[in-house]
Amino acid sequence: MIIFKKIKALRDFLEPVRITGSIGFVPTMGALHEGHLSLVETCRNENTVTVSSIFVNPAQFNDPKDFLKYPVTIEKDIQRLHGGRCDILFLPDQQEIYPPGINKETVDLARLDQVLEGKFRPGHFQGVCKVVNRLLEIVEPHRLYLGQKDYQQCMVIRRLLDITGRTTTLNICATVREPDGLAMSSRNLRLTAEDRRRAPAIYQALEYCKNNLVKGNLSDLKQSALRMLSEQGFRIDYLEIADAVTLELLTQWDGKQDVVALIAAFIGDVRLIDNMVLSD
Ligand code: AMP
Repeated sequence: MIIFKKIKALRDFLEPVRITGSIGFVPTMGALHEGHLSLVETCRNENTVTVSSIFVNPAQFNDPKDFLKYPVTIEKDIQRLHGGRCDILFLPDQQEIYPPGINKETVDLARLDQVLEGKFRPGHFQGVCKVVNRLLEIVEPHRLYLGQKDYQQCMVIRRLLDITGRTTTLNICATVREPDGLAMSSRNLRLTAEDRRRAPAIYQALEYCKNNLVKGNLSDLKQSALRMLSEQGFRIDYLEIADAVTLELLTQWDGKQDVVALIAAFIGDVRLIDNMVLSD
């Protein structure tokens, strides 16, 4: 694996590949686990060259304390990417990504950034767009790989690609889970043994929604799923069922619309998010 810290060197390397082959891109913030590596593997299978990036993006942390607390495990990450046979790691510093005078315009996300995570983390998705836009400008990949684990982020980036007219194709990869259903996340390491035992209730609540979705009012379904979480000691930010594309929050299901259930909840002081598409 080749590590580039500078944009120019990375672009010089990628220029011939862009003409003769395809570039796949997996952006991350590090603290890598099997979920990230599954994106790298899918990317490897579909492209000539796989570029991954590690950049902890201050612009997407609505609480600066969270940015300072974000786990940095760069040596381990490099080993993991190497083991996953990633071709290139782009490891820029702040100056490289955000030089003075960089475009600070916000993106019209058609309210995608106002609901769910957007409501609880104001400014988060604008920050995500800022960094992804910048990384896409630098890497110019043919294909971009994101995890369904961050469902709303995927819809936001799909919208970003649409409105910026980029030709990059978005590939959304399935959430990688622990054997008991808990979605892999660097945050799982912060769970106490007792909270870790309770944490799969999020997955169980999502499965419950999937298995019990019926046409009509969604309120009973949501109430039962909420109860499953509160019984396990979760404090819930939201549990919603939404249109799978626009993320409009729904109170009724017409039996046809593609819908997704999304949850954000605290167990102890760890905030977990997860989602499941309910209608196939
Ligand atoms: P992050 O480093 O948390 O910004 O995540 C980088 C990418 O990995 C994002 O596209 C995430 O959605 C994806 N990702 C994180 N956790 C998982 C998981 N458990 N399964 C699949 N993809 C994931």
